[in-house]
Amino acid sequence: MADPLLFHLDSRPTTRQVADRVKAGGVDALTEAERRADHATYQEVDCRSALNRVKGMPFDWTLNPYRGCTHACHYCFARRYHTQFELDSDDEFASVILVKRNFVEVLRHELDKPSWQRDQVALGTATDPYQPIEGRYKLTRRTIEALANARTPTGIVTKGPMIVRDRDVLIELSRAASCTVCMSVPTVDEDAWRTLEPGTAHPMQRLRAVRELADAGINAGVLMAPIVPGFSSSRSKLERTIKAIADHGARFVGCNVMYLQDGTRTHFMQFIAREFPAMQPRFERLYTKKYPPDNYRKEIQGLVRVLQDRYGLRKRRSADEANAGGEAGVAAEPDAPQPEQVAFRW
Ligand code: SF4
Repeated sequence: MADPLLFHLDSRPTTRQVADRVKAGGVDALTEAERRADHATYQEVDCRSALNRVKGMPFDWTLNPYRGCTHACHYCFARRYHTQFELDSDDEFASVILVKRNFVEVLRHELDKPSWQRDQVALGTATDPYQPIEGRYKLTRRTIEALANARTPTGIVTKGPMIVRDRDVLIELSRAASCTVCMSVPTVDEDAWRTLEPGTAHPMQRLRAVRELADAGINAGVLMAPIVPGFSSSRSKLERTIKAIADHGARFVGCNVMYLQDGTRTHFMQFIAREFPAMQPRFERLYTKKYPPDNYRKEIQGLVRVLQDRYGLRKRRSADEANAGGEAGVAAEPDAPQPEQVAFRW
């Protein structure tokens, strides 16, 4: 039996306890958290479960070893989930990161159960599994090892070129079950990248990672998600991005237009009002609902399809065929909007 004192010293708060502490005293109440040189605060937590059941998506379970993301994309749909921990969906989403220290041990236990059916799993749906802190904890790497060991088919979504570090275990997983890597590269336009994804690696660095993984025989492709109206939606920007994706040997490409909901909507609209006030009225008109009007989305998606044909990408597999993961609404939302008239073109 474990020594009760040692057990106590080694234990960490649960996410519920973190939420209680933050509610009572703000982030300063997380006294065991580590403040690192990247100006983010890292709080280790103990999780009770790793696999999270989902419905209506092209995968059955999700895995997220971290919560919060220092990549800090302004459109990130996962911002709204941070409020579950009494943390805000603005700066705290990108600067207070929960690290599930016992994640892999809990996952191995779940995968070992005779009831585990080896359903499709998506890794990195509510946070990036290759954000910089992964270099220290290696939770994602060890998660992939566990999934390979349990012969569980997996899709991974990331903006982190660090994934090439794990080429060996990704190959192992590909052989044991199946593995699809979806690199998120919404655009190669530098202005849009710097503005919208301030904590991420350069888009071309991400595409070079796709090249390396594809060359290693891994099913690696690109998700242009989300395409953000007014920032990355012009024909010339879409064409440059699709050409770069094709040039880097992506095995598939998918796309979707940005959607805004709850805390993500609040954050994004405040960001636009603060940094780009002239664009605010247009965003308010385009986003009266979660998605822009259906014919606007269809127009963008149609343009992407034409460009995919031009650069030979449609002959490759689509993201859906690859049974990809779900960052930023890659999978169709079950409550997608009905067609409406688009009031303007952007
Ligand atoms: S979109 Fe992905 S990479 Fe960007 S902040 Fe959200 S989880 Fe992180």
